[in-house]
Amino acid sequence: MYAIAIHGGAGTLPRAAMTPERDQAYRAGLAAALDAGYAVLDGRGTSLDAVTTAVRILEDDPLFNAGRGAVLTAGGIAELDASIMDGRTLAAGAVAGLRHVRNPIELARAVMEHSSHVMLIGGGAEEFALERGMAPVPNEYFHTETRRLQLQRALPGGGGPVNELSALGTVGAVALDQDGNLAAATSTGGMTAKRYGRVGDSPIIGAGTYADNAGCAVSATGHGEFFIRTVVAHDICARVAYAGATLAEAADAVVMGRLRQMGGEGGIIAVDARGNVVMPFNSEGMFRGARSADGRREIAIY
Ligand code: ASP
Repeated sequence: MYAIAIHGGAGTLPRAAMTPERDQAYRAGLAAALDAGYAVLDGRGTSLDAVTTAVRILEDDPLFNAGRGAVLTAGGIAELDASIMDGRTLAAGAVAGLRHVRNPIELARAVMEHSSHVMLIGGGAEEFALERGMAPVPNEYFHTETRRLQLQRALPGGGGPVNELSALGTVGAVALDQDGNLAAATSTGGMTAKRYGRVGDSPIIGAGTYADNAGCAVSATGHGEFFIRTVVAHDICARVAYAGATLAEAADAVVMGRLRQMGGEGGIIAVDARGNVVMPFNSEGMFRGARSADGRREIAIY
């Protein structure tokens, strides 16, 4: 059995703002990432390569809040966070506050594979990217008109959140490969109008991302401050690994129970060592997709 699941963010998705054209564009973006990641697994590639491939494609797609198309800080800058984890070895890599790295997930992976550290931030992370031969991009590379407008609206006096898919679009992937190894990856621009230096759950191992062959692989999306405090990804894996919960029980208990009680809006995607995939969310919608060797292929928004 092998399987992959991806997400493109969770949150408030007013149906009125979802025109047929937009719906199609989001689905096409999700499908491209899902199928590319699945092709890696199908060709006997590793789950790490599958999640890296899927997340990189979503980072390059300006519709999603990761890489190009990321949301902007209150100061109008894109500051990107990402992380990746190998369920076989529990190796992990994370980066935060990037301004000039085109594909944050590739830098997170480089931190995991080519440094003795787990997490690098800001200038130190950018310096490491240069050492790894990653050509820097100007911060404007990440900016889109939609995100500029969303920021204007979100700032004091701007009239409040736009009636559209505003803060949405963090991306992530989880996979189980043919050798039975799990991996998870997450990448984001964070939250619109966030403070300079704010870091969410996405690059925090255990909060936004976790993978352990003994439990499951999880990538989260939603209001990061809540996901950090409830250590969402690790909590789900621990319930599977130590408490004998099924993946569905563990994910539901955390996303629909604990997190919701605290007011934490969002969702997660997860896969376990048997290839079970769950994608619960407590928000109005979550861009998501799953594909597995048993013929399942699903892309959904609401
Ligand atoms: N979890 C992300 C963060 O708080 C945002 C999101 O998933 O929409 O940075």
